[in-house]
Amino acid sequence: MKNYSNIFKPTKKNLIKAAKILKNSGIVALPTETVYGLAANAYSAKAIHKVYQLKKRPKKNPLIVHFDTLNSIKKETEPNLYLNKLFNKFSPGPITYVLKLKKSSRISRKLTNQSGTVACRVPANSYFRKMIKLTKTPLAAPSANVSNHVSPTSAKDVYDEFGKKIKFILDGKQSKIGLESTVINLIDKPNILRPGKISITEIKRVIKNVKKNKSKKILSPGQLKKHYSPGIPMYLDKTKPKIDGAYITFGKTSLKGKNIFNLSKQGSLEEVGKKLYQKLRFIKKQGFKNISVKKIPNQGIGIAINDRLKRASS
Ligand code: AMP
Ligand code: MG
Repeated sequence: MKNYSNIFKPTKKNLIKAAKILKNSGIVALPTETVYGLAANAYSAKAIHKVYQLKKRPKKNPLIVHFDTLNSIKKETEPNLYLNKLFNKFSPGPITYVLKLKKSSRISRKLTNQSGTVACRVPANSYFRKMIKLTKTPLAAPSANVSNHVSPTSAKDVYDEFGKKIKFILDGKQSKIGLESTVINLIDKPNILRPGKISITEIKRVIKNVKKNKSKKILSPGQLKKHYSPGIPMYLDKTKPKIDGAYITFGKTSLKGKNIFNLSKQGSLEEVGKKLYQKLRFIKKQGFKNISVKKIPNQGIGIAINDRLKRASS
């Protein structure tokens, strides 16, 4: 039996307890609407060092910093033409803006890969924003998983990744979106570094000249090919499971059995996105040897789902 004594309900008392840990350069896991994050004081080099160690994350892969307001982002970054427009439309929410860091900013350069840039997000999750208010510091928070594992979408998933290596995991129920944020680079010509729930089509309605990032040079290490791996082979665009394998589908299907996982009977890709990581973890735990997945239409959130599936299967 697992002993979840480091998972805490989001009571006022517990939020204050978590803030204390963060203020002392400690690490806590927090829920967001995308996935769970491993949060650390973004001003503290000591705290940032701990995050990289815990995650076994390569130092060259920079972290996203979370803020509670647009003004607090502006305090740390150079003025940007596009930020206000996008922020007004999409934030707080599942979108991250890469901006130029001000020379005077106290944000730890350890989390920026010394790039002179910083990835900024205001999450919609109210507990997370409360923690920023209580600590009075921006919080760096990469997904709360060991590097290359699937991102966690519940407090128990975080426990499965780190056990008691972290003192405090805040239980904010299942993440509403279940896929990592859209990352958009706003320096020079805006370009999408990572697709997410907020699609390029929606972004184009606000700023016209946005591009998909096609550059060979990897700007965002989250774009590396192998990433988000469930730990067993995955096969995409399949119509049925393979031997000893599970099958992920959505919408109407005639397939039946314990190895068939219908992520959305209504055929909603939003629902597929929300449940995907949770089901990948579950299927692995059940002992299936491989996972086949039905073809996902490459539009809207389907682009983000396909992006993650491609990496998971490579
Ligand atoms: P994670 O927090 O684990 O979901 O990953 C954060 C993503 O944002 C990764 O793909 C990072 O490479 C990317 N990222 C963070 N900071 C920057 C930055 N300054 N420039 C470009 N990409 C970044
Ligand atoms: Mg991650």
